[in-house]
Amino acid sequence: QGKRGASRIVLYSGEDAAAPTQWLVVQAELRHAIERDELVLFYQPKVRLADGSTYGVEALVRWQHPQRGLLPPPEFLPAAEQSGLIEPLTAWVLRRALSDQAQWTAAGRPWSVSVNVSARNLEAPGFARSVALALEEFGTPPERLTIEVTETAMAGDARTAVQVLGELAALGVDVAVDDFGIGYTCLSQLRTLAVREIKIDREFVRGIEDDAQDRAIVRSVIELAHGLGCRVTAEGVETAQAQRWLVDAGCDDAQGYLFARPAPWAELLERTDPADTA
Ligand code: C2E
Ligand code: CA
Ligand code: CA
Ligand code: CA
Repeated sequence: QGKRGASRIVLYSGEDAAAPTQWLVVQAELRHAIERDELVLFYQPKVRLADGSTYGVEALVRWQHPQRGLLPPPEFLPAAEQSGLIEPLTAWVLRRALSDQAQWTAAGRPWSVSVNVSARNLEAPGFARSVALALEEFGTPPERLTIEVTETAMAGDARTAVQVLGELAALGVDVAVDDFGIGYTCLSQLRTLAVREIKIDREFVRGIEDDAQDRAIVRSVIELAHGLGCRVTAEGVETAQAQRWLVDAGCDDAQGYLFARPAPWAELLERTDPADTA
């Protein structure tokens, strides 16, 4: 069935015949990848800007493909999102993240864990309930879990998103707005969302060293977030200069290559001292 589907779509696609075939191959393989446990989670530390201590980690999925090697999310997430595979994928990520968290907590690093979810996940009925069940299964205190939702995901079916995020908050789970600044969240919507953390997109953070407009945007996002009682995380902090500027601007937390690249949790454990855990 996969093959016939492929040739049919190739006919419609015109010039770029390879891309859709490839896309269907990715879909078919990804289905097996989840069953065969080929997905892996890397984790990137989330640090307090003031002292660089790690207080949590963000789970970032990769696919250990048998032929193509370790694939980053852009290679397969779009196919997952458009095929419905994003539901089993997110369920896998969530359970694995909570299971890993139990292990690093037992190893003396009580880091919280952040899990990314797609717009499609929020639209699936019973999403908050599936999160509640996973927390129960692993005995995870809800406040140790943060669900990251991109600003653009909330722009889609806004009413459903507001409701589901409210359900998650009622469970005691933290909600973060990811990639803030590139979407179109209306500010009043932010107020109705039970959001704990706003993550400033890397695009703007990258510009703070030489772009006055990016600096202005970052400053106002920090002010807005604090006004709403949220913490602010700067994504993609790569230089000490950016770190200093962000500290001065009042930003709370950060992630970025300056502090640590995403890695399997066992590697993070080797590189961090329990004393550096916030
Ligand atoms: P994101 O949530 O904004 O995650 C941050 C991305 O920036 C990650 O890319 C991370 O490796 C990268 N990054 C972190 N620090 C730096 C830095 O200092 N410089 C630069 N240049 N990059 C940095 P990654 O792992 O390739 O993930 C890409 C996106 O895929 C994520 O963006 C997220 O939207 C999505 N994603 C990753 N894992 C999952 C998942 O389990 N579920 C869902 N739904 N989406 C995921
Ligand atoms: Ca994220
Ligand atoms: Ca982000
Ligand atoms: Ca981003």
